[in-house]
Amino acid sequence: MTRDEELIRLALVARALAYAPYSGYQVGAALRTRDGRVFTGANVENASYGLSVCAERGAVIAAVLAGARDIAAIAVATASSPPAGPCGMCRQTLAEFSRDLAITMVNDRGEVAHATIDELLPRAFRGDALP
Ligand SMILES: [Zn+2]
Repeated sequence: MTRDEELIRLALVARALAYAPYSGYQVGAALRTRDGRVFTGANVENASYGLSVCAERGAVIAAVLAGARDIAAIAVATASSPPAGPCGMCRQTLAEFSRDLAITMVNDRGEVAHATIDELLPRAFRGDALP
């Protein structure tokens, strides 16, 4: 199993753990840091909808809490066809921790799509834009 296949497998596993009683739209994410560690996340909804947290941001938070700051790749698993990419908020969050992030989007039917963070969020706002 390649490293990408492993991330996909872990994203699909995480997706099954999503807490999405309101939308029914389960999302899982698995990211790999440049030093080889893997962190996962799943979307966690709330009755106060605005408090819901996406799978990708959950995985980023787990990585940061472990001291990881450099993300090399992420796989995102949904039921969408074609496979859905991260939402705008998550694209911005991911851009904070990688300039060349490889994003793999998959669904539970085995469809796979690839993109980079620059393709999904061109000219991202980053800390170096701050005075
Ligand atoms: Zn999101």
